[in-house]
Amino acid sequence: ESQQIWTRAEAYHNSFLIPKDEVLDKIVENSRANGLLNISVSAAQGKFLHLLARSIGAKKILEVGTLGGYSTTWFARAVPEDGAVTTLEVDPQCVRVATENLATAGLVHKVEIILGPAAETLETLSPTPIPFDLVFIDADKEGNATYFKHAKRLVRKGGIIIVDNVVRDGKVADLENKDSMVEGARRLLEVLKADPEVSATTISTVGEKGYDGFTFALKL
Ligand code: SAM
Repeated sequence: ESQQIWTRAEAYHNSFLIPKDEVLDKIVENSRANGLLNISVSAAQGKFLHLLARSIGAKKILEVGTLGGYSTTWFARAVPEDGAVTTLEVDPQCVRVATENLATAGLVHKVEIILGPAAETLETLSPTPIPFDLVFIDADKEGNATYFKHAKRLVRKGGIIIVDNVVRDGKVADLENKDSMVEGARRLLEVLKADPEVSATTISTVGEKGYDGFTFALKL
């Protein structure tokens, strides 16, 4: 029942703030038609990430976890014409669908999708000559600490690292819960606590996707 209230509240706000978007609708449709899971960020979250990227003048963005390219589209729309989004995905079917979706959005020229396990691909990326302005981590949650360490190496000072799904219906704070995704979120918190080179906070989110949250970290 609370889920119904959250969904209604999000739809209400969206009806004022997020105009109907045929390109995003097509992307969602094509992703479903191709059997992708319905686990992308919500429209409100996608727009928030987009606004965040614009507000720091991001030109180079890295995303870990592409799925069908829904969040990628919000990011690619945020960077200027000479900007770039690099997005990492392990599932070839997702890469295929995301490639189609980014073509639908007319954004192929701004996006590089790299197929492979993110931990391996991240090893090959370098912060020189131009570091990333923003990194969005949204792949397998078990990898969060590893992805974060790379993100910190690859992002500029003053850049932002955002990690999705860190609250998980409050399960991350329930120490009895030993789920591997929950443990992945906890390990990230340990890493953040011990790292004097970032300043971070978690914002819980509630809406059509249930009850979860993002951690935001600023590289100092
Ligand atoms: N960011 C996307 C969005 O909001 O539209 C959603 C990403 S979805 C939550 C997570 C994605 O991470 C899935 O497509 C999954 O195949 C991918 N993934 C899982 N393990 C991975 C790994 N080891 N390396 C790269 N991608 C991985």
